[in-house]
Amino acid sequence: MEPTIALLGPPGSGKGTQAERLRDELGYTWLSTGDLLREARANGTEVGRRAADYMDRGDLVPDDVIVDVVEDALAKAGDRPVLLDGFPRSVPQAEALGRDLDAVVLIDVPDEVVMERIAGRRDGRADDKPETVRERLRVYHHETEPLIGHYEQQGKLRRVDGAQEPDAVHDDVRAALQ
Ligand code: ADP
Repeated sequence: MEPTIALLGPPGSGKGTQAERLRDELGYTWLSTGDLLREARANGTEVGRRAADYMDRGDLVPDDVIVDVVEDALAKAGDRPVLLDGFPRSVPQAEALGRDLDAVVLIDVPDEVVMERIAGRRDGRADDKPETVRERLRVYHHETEPLIGHYEQQGKLRRVDGAQEPDAVHDDVRAALQ
């Protein structure tokens, strides 16, 4: 079985930037749950309709919605190596995933840096308003951070300093996956 890796980190930690490069350089299939949900909304699907209000508030969409989205995408990836970006985002989600992860890379960035980065980002995401970013950070600390201990206990967690330039983060991520 090819490896399944997850990237963990707060909003604005650069998970997407790093995932894209790992896809291009190492051939991972990149699954971004945020992108999959935004695509579902753009296509007006049932999943998109169920996810919309949660996303606009900066809250997690319900587990039954997201777990189906991820299982579908994993099935389509077949037995290629997979990089999960944005999933799991809580311990219950990790437990619902029908496969074991090989490694989890935490891209660690302090809240102040997140707020600055997202304020400077101009891609027009509805959930990038400062009050929504604060809610996404609150959810991250409350729901997602417990995964750090969860994967540390399993010996799978690798920490990377995400406050560096993207190239330096990339080098550290590659080293963490060696
Ligand atoms: P970021 O990591 O910058 O907060 P994402 O693009 O990964 O943004 O996610 C955007 C939104 O999509 C989240 O705020 C949440 O509403 C929803 N979402 C993405 N992944 C998940 C997930 N695993 N579980 C629940 N909701 C999710």
